[in-house]
This record gives sequence, structure tokens and C-alpha cells, in this order.
Amino acid sequence: MKALQITAYGAPLTYHEVPRPAVAGRQVLVRVTHCGMCHSDVHLHSGNFVIGDGQLQSIAGNHTLPFTLGHEIEGVVEEIGPDAELPPGVPLGTRCGVYPWIGCGHCPACLRGEEQLCDTPAALGVQKAGGYAEFVLVPEGRYLIPAEGLAPGHAGMLMCSGLTAYAALQRMRLAGSMEPWLLIGAGGLGLSAILLARAMDLAAPYVADPGEGARAAAMEAGAAAAFAPSPDALKAAREAVGGFAAALDFVGTAETVGIAMNFLRKGGAAVVMGLYGGLYTMPVIRLPLRQLRLEGSCTGTLAQARDLVDLVRRANIRPVPVQRRKLAEGSAALDDLAARRVVGRVLLEV
Ligand SMILES: [Zn+2]
Ligand SMILES: [Zn+2]
Repeated sequence: MKALQITAYGAPLTYHEVPRPAVAGRQVLVRVTHCGMCHSDVHLHSGNFVIGDGQLQSIAGNHTLPFTLGHEIEGVVEEIGPDAELPPGVPLGTRCGVYPWIGCGHCPACLRGEEQLCDTPAALGVQKAGGYAEFVLVPEGRYLIPAEGLAPGHAGMLMCSGLTAYAALQRMRLAGSMEPWLLIGAGGLGLSAILLARAMDLAAPYVADPGEGARAAAMEAGAAAAFAPSPDALKAAREAVGGFAAALDFVGTAETVGIAMNFLRKGGAAVVMGLYGGLYTMPVIRLPLRQLRLEGSCTGTLAQARDLVDLVRRANIRPVPVQRRKLAEGSAALDDLAARRVVGRVLLEV
């Protein structure tokens, strides 16, 4: 089969022929039709996450090279192992999104259904071969979520950007600290969050993004207002609403976390989902005096992924703007993503 692989960190991805995986035991083989390209793929491809102050954290130990990226996988159930069980109503040939945040199955996080928090994960496209290929091996049928009723590729894209946004919005709503809210960074994740918030009956967010195209896309998706994150514009927004109850940061630099924390009202919470990295400092006394929270959020559970696909189908939420690229052109597409030349999401067609 054809696969697009990291053969050396930072070097162009290699599109070449590799052996097609053989199914065994409870495994399921999915023929990939679409795979979303995520900004974390840029980091995984470089071999590092940025910690800040010029320091990098190597992620090369996650897997061995050559390695196949891709965790926003959609495809068709092609073949199953002798002991595999497919979910009810998912026969061979069903088009499915694949939940990629697979854990060990027996640690405390996995046992309470939070496989995405497993300490020894086997996530597709991070530790295990992912969806930048014609086929992907899935360890069990329960990770398949039928994509019926959704645009081709949409269910796959929901598994990372959509799921991260959905899980954070759901948690903030349950905590009762959601409105009014500030959204920082209207890329693929941020735009998903705006559309989902609408379907979840949450208020429209105020959006801060330096890019004119991103701001236009945010307004089109239903933002209350969108502005460049200049001190004046932020101050005006804060005065208009009396400070934000929540700030969702889909960029994750020291600067954007600073914006999120500085524009909260008392009792507010900042949630960081972006992975750009940096070192953030603040006067600690602000946390107790203003009773602020600063927390992180990363993807979501398998149950949330199923709920999200249901919600998107029920509310007829359209996908964020998509740039379609062929798998063979994936290396150039990853360069475009790294250089921030993409509005919305890159969707690889296999
Ligand atoms: Zn991702
Ligand atoms: Zn586990």
C-alpha cells in the first residue's frame, strides 16, 4: 500500500510503498478515504514540542522511524480479525471515523473511560501508525464511529479538532463558567468551537485572531465579534462585557495565555488547547485574589467522540473550511500548515 511517512524528522515526508498491515485477533483494518491534517502533526514531524526560551522537548521516543502520521482518520471497514467484534450496525464496508486516542485499557484513566489520558498510550498517528496511508490497523472495533449523514472526511476531522473543542466546551458549561467567552485563534480548532457552541446553545464568542482571513471565517461561523488581539481592541472587548467568564486559547503561546488570563473576570477560567508553546509567568497572587483557573484540555473520550458525531449529525453542523489535498501531496500541505498558509483544515484524500 502507499503511505506518506516521516523517514527523518524535519525532512520532507516520503510517499512510498510499504507492506499492507495484516489483521489478527480483535483488530480491524480500515481502508482510509480521508485524513485530516492537524497542527500537532507539524510538531510530530519536527520531532519536538516547543517548551519556550529556545528549549525543545523531544517527542522522537514516541515511535520509531519510518512513521505514519495522521490521527483524523476516516475510512471504510475493509477486513476484521478472527476475534474482532464490530459495533452493532457497522458491517464490513461501513464508512466510519476512527477514534485515535487509544489507551492501554487497564490503567485507572482507561478504566474510567478516559483513554486519552492514558500514561502508556497507543494513539493512532502518534505512537502507532496513523491515517496518512491507504490502510490503518485499529486494535478493536469499538473505536469505529459510523459517519453516515456527515460530509466525506468530516467524521475523521472531528476526532481531534472537533473533539478537543467539544470536550472543553462541555466541561466549561458543566462548571457554569462559560459566558461571555473569549476565543483566541480561529484556525481549524477555533472555528469548530464556534460552530459547536452554537449547536450546544452557548453564547457566540468574542474572537481574537491576528489574521484577517481567520477573522472573516470566524464571523461567518457565527462569532459575536472578531478583532486583532491588539491591547486596545482587547480592552474595548473586556469593557463591553465586563471581563470574560472563560477564555479558550487555541494557540497556546505565552502571549495568548497572557491574553486569556488578563481578560478574565473574577472567578473566570482560561483553558489552553493550542500547542505552539512558550514560557508563561504571572503574579501568583492573582489566582487566589481573583479566584482564577488556568487549565489544559486535550482531545476527549471515546464516549464524547460518539456524542459529538451525533450532535454534528443532529444539528447539521457543516465542516470548517477545508483545503483538499491528495495524499501524495501531503508533504507540501504540511509545509503550508507549518507556515500558517491554511485557513480552516487540510483534508488529505487517499
Ligand atoms: Zn490533532
Ligand atoms: Zn491506560
